[in-house]
Amino acid sequence: MVIILNSHADENDIQSLSAALASRGHRVFCSLFHDRYVLSLQAGAAIDEQQIKAFDCVDRVVAVDTEYRLANRAVKPEGTRITVGQAEFGGSRPVVIAGPCSVENREQMLRAADIVARHGAQVLRAGAFKPRTSPYSFQGLEERGLELLAEARERTGLPIITEVLDAGDVEMVAGYADILQIGSRNMKNYKLLKAVGALDKPVMLKRGMASELNELLLSAEYILSGGNGNVILCERGIRTFSDFSRNTLDLNIVPAVKQASHLPIIVDPSHGTGRRDLVAPMSLAALACGADGLIVEVHPEPDKSLSDADQAIGEETFARLMSQSRDVLSWRTQNDPTPVNSFN
Ligand code: PEP
Ligand code: MN
Repeated sequence: MVIILNSHADENDIQSLSAALASRGHRVFCSLFHDRYVLSLQAGAAIDEQQIKAFDCVDRVVAVDTEYRLANRAVKPEGTRITVGQAEFGGSRPVVIAGPCSVENREQMLRAADIVARHGAQVLRAGAFKPRTSPYSFQGLEERGLELLAEARERTGLPIITEVLDAGDVEMVAGYADILQIGSRNMKNYKLLKAVGALDKPVMLKRGMASELNELLLSAEYILSGGNGNVILCERGIRTFSDFSRNTLDLNIVPAVKQASHLPIIVDPSHGTGRRDLVAPMSLAALACGADGLIVEVHPEPDKSLSDADQAIGEETFARLMSQSRDVLSWRTQNDPTPVNSFN
């Protein structure tokens, strides 16, 4: 059960309602969803809905039949919108996040930032802490990388997203980033999920490369139930037997998430394909099937990328992609691929 409070509910209201629920053996999780608090409950004695509704501060009670509760579409049938700078995730205009895989040095970072800003990206990406398969690969510039990202934000006006790898770094990374990224390898790092759940900054949660939809939404639930209602999901490809691409971009999950959850979902065609030549077509496919945005790796000199060179696109391809995206989007405004009223 999920209890949605009125937007004017205050601390005292929450306390008295929580106390009443606790006395019936419930553990209460309280989250802030933009303008209102939402309570979710962990098992306890059966509750009489009428008794809950009798509390003035209660707007409505939602019965959910999934293990994830706060992430369930029924909690916010109109969908969640998350605003960061000029970008609105879950709004009518999909958000393009772009930038290099890693922050490599000042010149590369600023050049990349200028390119993506020039062609209309709304958020700048780059990793300062890199989860690399090999310990011998470039591991990222860490805090120096965060400083360079902040300088690039200052210069372009674009908000920044960057990955946090470890719960111990959350405070530091949150001191710089506008959106924290949880990478595919960490989708089930529950300590990290709890740490970002305690923030009020937006979090982009990437799907684990071998994770099910239910698992993705339960990982989102860790963040939501920790109190942070600003979760953006990201499909980044899953492991399959594909012998021609790094991963298989599972676009099926986009309309499936739209049915199951109110959270925005964006798509990463760079990691999802691992191939520069597949990035633009799969970006367009993602937008066509209803994605709330893209996250794309763009580098001023793609072949020289210190990480993920094979999937990095350069300025020309990015510029073309941005203009093609606009065509897909105008088509999409006439042909909503995921109309909410058909979800049954
Ligand atoms: C990234 O976006 O920089 C990244 C490491 O992606 P993923 O976690 O999807 O592998
Ligand atoms: Mn990468």
